[in-house]
Amino acid sequence: NSIWAKVEELPPDAIFLTKTLFTKDPSPSKVNLGIGAYRTEEGNPYILKVVQKVEHEIINDKTLDKEYAPICGDPQYVQLCQSVILGKNSLALKEKRVNLEQKKKKEIEGFFCWRFLSYVPFFFPKKNRPQVRNHCLEQVHCVCCANSLNKPTWGNHTKILAKARIEEGSYRYWNAKGRNLDIEGMLEDLNKANTGDVILLHACAHNPTGTDPTPEQWKKIANVMKKKKLIPFFDIAYQGFATGDLDRDAVSHKKTFESAIRLFEKEGFEFVVAQSFAKNMGLYSERAGCVTVVCNDKAYANACQSQLEAVIRPMYSNPPRYGAEIVKRVIGSAENFGLWQQEMTYMSGRIIKMRQLLRQHLEKLGTPGTWNHITDQIGMFSFTGLTGLVVSAL
Ligand code: PMP
Repeated sequence: NSIWAKVEELPPDAIFLTKTLFTKDPSPSKVNLGIGAYRTEEGNPYILKVVQKVEHEIINDKTLDKEYAPICGDPQYVQLCQSVILGKNSLALKEKRVNLEQKKKKEIEGFFCWRFLSYVPFFFPKKNRPQVRNHCLEQVHCVCCANSLNKPTWGNHTKILAKARIEEGSYRYWNAKGRNLDIEGMLEDLNKANTGDVILLHACAHNPTGTDPTPEQWKKIANVMKKKKLIPFFDIAYQGFATGDLDRDAVSHKKTFESAIRLFEKEGFEFVVAQSFAKNMGLYSERAGCVTVVCNDKAYANACQSQLEAVIRPMYSNPPRYGAEIVKRVIGSAENFGLWQQEMTYMSGRIIKMRQLLRQHLEKLGTPGTWNHITDQIGMFSFTGLTGLVVSAL
């Protein structure tokens, strides 16, 4: 007669389950291809040397205390995070059209989206205000990268939206046949979206397909989204992980140095960015990231800031300070920033080398099919094109 007797046991999170299964597996030749975490040549987790260096500084800094951070986090930290995504020449930053303090925990994205969308009509001048549907809770619509077959976006996106009770749609992204981006399908679907829909875009090194739009394709995406008055929501969890270069990755890995996010800023979009330092600084467990809202007027940035505070306060009250302190000391010092860049070049270089070796070996073995997609794709993930059955057997 326990009060918990009727509590339904839910299935485990699929991504974390692979980690548990891996740990339990007694095979001496096992390789963990589940959770997206960087590994060394020996297969071990990697703590960046620059992180170890600043952690040492933090331990010895007697001025630091354990007081609460402001609800939206340490403002200095936030500004440094924003300089990394928007770049030092960002007009939005110069004109203070970004939320001034911010800190993240994933779920707030969905919740903020919901609150934010109910204000969308007021973001447009009265005379050319778009036809926005009545944004009651169930009607808010957020479009994730997905296709009808297997939804290739990070699994947690769907869960976050469900938790925030945001209706999820999808646009085509992955072309399974050509093992590349289905740009035609994507543009077609964006063209069909409703004004005011929020479009989730992976800014670089797409999880799980490893396939990004080229700079030219980003321009086409921006054009359609501008025409349809769609709201970009960038998820950037792998900046610097494709090439080792933060400015190139804030982008696309090819040819140009202009990032997708920076392109959208230049094009005059208002948008949201969810940024993570889990991968590029190896701070997985420290939960260091930042949510940035770019507005076309400083007054709106202040209003958005207040909305974020209202979402955060009842959810997790205020963010943890330790990971943010590490990031602040890495980005905020020219010397540490340089060391960080070097380590990102090292990590991304190793990932590229692994891709080349995997392709070489598969081709040498005469494995049926083509394997160029392994090296065409970028970042931590590869959509191998193997069937579910083959993956299970492996
Ligand atoms: N977004 C994407 C696209 C990701 O792949 C990941 C990590 N797998 C995250 C966000 C998560 O970032 P964090 O650990 O900071 O929550």
